[in-house]
Order: sequence, then structure tokens, then C-alpha cells
Amino acid sequence: MSINTTQNTKYIFVTGGVTSSLGKGIIAASLAKLLQARGFSVTIQKLDPYINIDPGTLNPYEHGECYVTEDGAETDLDLGHYERFLNVPTSQANNVTTGRIYQSVIEKERKGEFLGKTVQVIPHITDEIKNRIKLLGKTGDYQFVITEIGGTVGDIESLPYIEAVRQLKWELGEDCTVIHLTLLPYLATSGELKTKPTQHSVKLLLEYGVQPDILVCRSEREISSEIRRKIALFCNVSPDAVIEGLDASTIYEVPLLLEKEKLDEVVLKKLNISNLGEVKLDKWKHFLNKLENPSKEVTIGLVGKYVELKESYKSIAEAFIHAGAINDCKVKLEWIHSDGLTEENITETFKNLKGVLVAPGFGNRGIEGKITAIKYARENNIPFFGICLGMQCAVIEFARHVLNLKDAHSREMDPNTSAPVIDLLEDQKNISHMGGTMRLGSYPCKITEGTLAYRIYGQVNINERHRHRYEFNNDYSQLYKDAGMVLSGFNPDANLAEIVEIPTHPFFIGVQFHPEYKSTVENPHPLFVNFVKACLGTEKV
Ligand code: GLN
Repeated sequence: MSINTTQNTKYIFVTGGVTSSLGKGIIAASLAKLLQARGFSVTIQKLDPYINIDPGTLNPYEHGECYVTEDGAETDLDLGHYERFLNVPTSQANNVTTGRIYQSVIEKERKGEFLGKTVQVIPHITDEIKNRIKLLGKTGDYQFVITEIGGTVGDIESLPYIEAVRQLKWELGEDCTVIHLTLLPYLATSGELKTKPTQHSVKLLLEYGVQPDILVCRSEREISSEIRRKIALFCNVSPDAVIEGLDASTIYEVPLLLEKEKLDEVVLKKLNISNLGEVKLDKWKHFLNKLENPSKEVTIGLVGKYVELKESYKSIAEAFIHAGAINDCKVKLEWIHSDGLTEENITETFKNLKGVLVAPGFGNRGIEGKITAIKYARENNIPFFGICLGMQCAVIEFARHVLNLKDAHSREMDPNTSAPVIDLLEDQKNISHMGGTMRLGSYPCKITEGTLAYRIYGQVNINERHRHRYEFNNDYSQLYKDAGMVLSGFNPDANLAEIVEIPTHPFFIGVQFHPEYKSTVENPHPLFVNFVKACLGTEKV
């Protein structure tokens, strides 16, 4: 550790201006990576200004994938970036929404905790926000807490959060710094980067009482020292605190770009830390080097129902990037819409694919297309990897076409099926509250030795994260075993089947859990690594 642990926790806020989608999450994760690389302990938190309690019930079209933490929180997908960059698990405390803030304030009000006072945005809502921010610091586990404020400065929804930052800046003094992320648009007609939107967004922040200490300016062109000086002058920051945020070819390059810009040094200086430590990013650079110089390429089909919006399968796409790099291989994902997939067009659609992943999901749309994809992969010896609903579809497909249970289905899709091979557990049947019946978060799984799963993991006891309601129906296990589908992993407490595979196939595996949530730059997930290996076809897995 570079600073002694008795030193106060330092709080870094990241706000965004000018427009959304500037990549606050990646900037926050990259800064965290740089501080971690200097030997500091860091965590990152995301505050989301929407009123939903969590993104669990949000349509992926709205906010992309719902990420799941070890402790079973359904969170914003930025937490996935935090984990992939830092290789440190996050938790419920790392993602807070306005819905959750109001819920706890209202619960306190009902319990009479405000002693008859009028409950107001200031101080009650802002106090709750501040408590949630400081909660991570109080664990004593982190020297730095980076808090990303969702939305763009000026949004009505984010006002209480900006107000909480203003108050904390005042309370914490030099233990706190604010980074504001803006955009410098390039005008081709005049050949210039324009600073006015940045000036305006800083003015807006100042109206709310927050002076940013550091500006990260997203730009497609290099920012000259003259422009840096101009921005510094208008926005009351020092020129070295105007950081260039150039477009990168991969998000994994951003920490290195920001290191060149000395973002981490400027932050440490603002927080009065003199013992900077030394940036150790060897492993990261090794990964990046492999990522950028692949010696081969493989095309894999990702069959899902949200393929227009790639954010919906963010963690899967990133897990393939990690797995590709370690295999010296560029994984080209072909996004295939399950809705339109039929026996008639499958041969044509799959003709260039070396492997098929069937994605997780909820509801009936696109199910038959997923089943068709799995049948084709199974019958044509194409490497197959099913995740959650993808595994359930593999179970249904096997029932229909191998066990000859023509009507087989998941009770989720067909409540009246005569062969519910995927079903609710008895004790789940009468619960309807959203989220209430889900198996969420990390659960243990015991792998049978001698199986493909065992060769992949190299161990018997694993833990993986779940997010689903339905389960493999054990009433059918003997039929599956007799017909050649092996159940190779079980939850040791409830005897639930977690992994299925077909040993006579070159690579056919379905998992009830979500391995993609645990794949990081430092620890690419073995299921993805071995699936890519199988798709390359050069080595037997
Ligand atoms: N819809 C399925 C279930 O609830 C699978 C969920 C998923 O793929 N995440 O069990």
C-alpha cells in the first residue's frame, strides 16, 4: 500500500456534461485501474438517477444488460466494466438508484424516524445519498471510492445527486475531488475543436455550486496546449487538469491513454497524496498486446433476441474479448436474431460459423429460433455453448428431438406443456412479486470428475452467478442420462442441475448460471476460453 491505512478515505466524483454516452463508466474504471496499479485499494460506485429500484425489471433496450453481483444485486452494466477492469467483485452497495434512495427515506418516515419533521429533498434525500456514498468508505476496505453520477448535468433527475456532491465537497475538503467529463466537438467546416459546450456545462455545474477540479474532455482530435489553456482559463482549473480523452480503438486502451495524460497523478495531487507509488500495468499491457495482435480469427454466432442493441449482451461480448486474447485470436461475433431463424434458413445463416452461443433471456419471443439453432449445432457437430435460457433451450431441444417428447417445453413459455423439462420449483409457484422468485447471485456448484465441465474448470467446487426463475426438472434426469445428455454440475444444497453436456459431441455445454459476469481481463473465464479453443478446432478440449 502506498498510503498508510489510517489516512481518510478519499472520494472522487465523476460527473458528465454536454451529452450522454461519453463513457463516464470507462473513465471511472480506467482511473480506478491506474490507482490500483499504483498499489492503492479502490472501489467504484454508480448512482443512477432513475426511479426504478434496480434495473432488474428494465427492458434491455432501455439500459442494456442487467449485470449481477456476487451478492445477487441486479445492477447497471457499468459495474461489469468496474469488475472487468479491477478484478475485484462489487456488491449491492456499488449501485444506488433514486428509487432505492426514496424507498429507504419513505420507510424511515413510516417508522417515525424523522420525529414529525417535514421530509424534504434537502436534507433528507441528500443525506441518504451522502450516506450511501460514504458507506463504501466506512467499510475500511478502500483508500479511494470513485462515485460516478449517472445522467448529464442539467437533468432534473440528477439534481439531488449534484447537490449531495456540493455538500460533500464542503464537508470533506481535501479528501474529495470532482472530475467532470465533457465533449469537445470537432467542426470540419472550420477545422476546429470547439470549447463552448464545455464552458457551458461547467457554468451549469457552477450554478449548482460545484467547481470541478479536473476536466476530462472527450475528443476525436488531439487537444492543443492553446485549447487546454483556454478551457483552463474559462473553467477555473489548472491547465494540467484539462485531460484529453481521445477516442480509443478498444476500451481496454483507455487506462494507458489516461496514464499518458497523467490523470492519476493530477488526481493524487488534488487529494494531497505525495507518495504516488509506481504504476504497474504489466499484465494489462500484455493482455492489450495480445488483443491488438491476434494471429488468427474465428467467427462465432451469438443467437439472441436483442441483437440490434449489442449493449444487451455486453458481458458476453467482453468475455469473448478476454477469451480471444488469451487464445491469440480475434473473435468475430456474428449477431443472429433468434426471431427469424428457421429450419429453412439455418444452413445459410450458419455457413461461416465455427461455433454458436445461445444467449440468456426471458419470455417466449425467439424461443423456437434458439431451439432450431441448437438442433443444428448438435446434429452438425458445431461447438455449442448455452447460457441460462440457452441451456434451458438445449434441454428442451434434446427432449423434443432425442427423447421424443414432442410437446416438451419450459413452463415459462408453455404453462400447459405435458413435458415441463424446465419448471418452477414447488416452493416458488405461489410467489409473484417482481424479483422475488429469482435465483440471484453466487451459488456453489459441484462438478462431476471426468466430464467436459471438469476438464474446463479443473476443479470440483466452483461458484457462479445466477439470474433466473426456472430450473431443470429432475423428474426427467434418468431419461436424459440414458439418452446421452450428462448432467455434470449440481448445486450441492438443492441438487439442482447446473450444467448439461453431450460427451459424444466435440463441444456441447449448457450452463444454468452466467459465467460472463465473472470474466475479467486478469481472469478470462475458462468456459469462454475453452469454447473459443473448441471453435478454433486446433486442440481437443
Ligand atoms: N427465463 C429463464 C428463467 O427465468 C432464463 C433466464 C435467463 O436466461 N437469465 O429461468
